[in-house]
Amino acid sequence: MRDLARLPKAHLHLHFTGSLSVDSLRDLAQARGVRVPASLLDGDPLRVPATQRGWFRFQRLYDAARACVRSEADMRRIVDEAAAADAAEGSVRLELQVDPTSYAPFVGGITPAVEIVLDAAKAASAAHGIEVAIVVAASRIRHPLDARTLARLAARYAGEGPGEVVGFGLSNDERSGRTDAFRAAFRIARDAGLAAVPHGGELLGPDHVSVVLDELRPDRIGHGVRASEDPAVLDAVVAGGVALEVCPASNVGLGVYPEVAAVPLRALVDAGATVALGADDPLLFGSRLVDQYEAARTVHGFDDAALADLARSSIRASRASATSKAAMLAAVDAWLAPPRPQPFAGAGREGL
Ligand SMILES: [Zn+2]
Repeated sequence: MRDLARLPKAHLHLHFTGSLSVDSLRDLAQARGVRVPASLLDGDPLRVPATQRGWFRFQRLYDAARACVRSEADMRRIVDEAAAADAAEGSVRLELQVDPTSYAPFVGGITPAVEIVLDAAKAASAAHGIEVAIVVAASRIRHPLDARTLARLAARYAGEGPGEVVGFGLSNDERSGRTDAFRAAFRIARDAGLAAVPHGGELLGPDHVSVVLDELRPDRIGHGVRASEDPAVLDAVVAGGVALEVCPASNVGLGVYPEVAAVPLRALVDAGATVALGADDPLLFGSRLVDQYEAARTVHGFDDAALADLARSSIRASRASATSKAAMLAAVDAWLAPPRPQPFAGAGREGL
């Protein structure tokens, strides 16, 4: 069995504060004198009966963590550590998702907040040998006009390389807000060449995946796993070439599925969907990127060839340049290639 931490892959679903390690959160909390719930620091904050998981507990904990991020230095640290952790797990391309709104008050507005993240992404790319690009995400629980403002801001920094904005997302509680109200924001983003990458099909089922497809015309859907509940919707996802950012540990942490075995990873792949595994929020779900690939191997029975296909899917679904993608895909081929025969160590020793 090959080492999954050496499998080159793209990480397309990781949130800014949610990418923190528990140790770093503890540091930030101490430095800022902020009290955070003990459950956030014990390494398994969502370890409760399945009936008590769910969105509101998650959101409360995420907000508590976010309250520890209060300066440019904190923001730069998050990007740098996310890049370092990803690179150590074989990620060659990270598209980190950030809603700058919550950090804006500490750095003078949403524009500086975005520019700090982009600058940090560029620096982290060079420091850790990984491409770090940014997805700017609006929130469902804020006014759709805020989303348009963010889309216009994101459009100013549109590109495909490290330190550029590659996508526009829509996050927070899927059950909040009207999806069609965000149509205009996504049009602004798409017109600027950004990938449309809203969340959907996580807390709501396939009907909402259809709404997301129709209203937001996504290139990728964050989660989208519940498209598997309706073959016609899953067909539409596949036919439209819409990639799914599947985050098994997150699904279990939020009680979308009772256990990793119930995440329909195999069904989605077998249906022909482009799947990119992601960690979503390692801080809250206690597992990072390689853990998702390990789960595909150990729980869903993916062999090395199938795991390489998952990695290829993630790279193809990324917004990396054609040149970068070709190099990344070649590296996947090299990971999967049979080991070269080693010269016989004892050759020539027989006569001794
Ligand atoms: Zn997410």
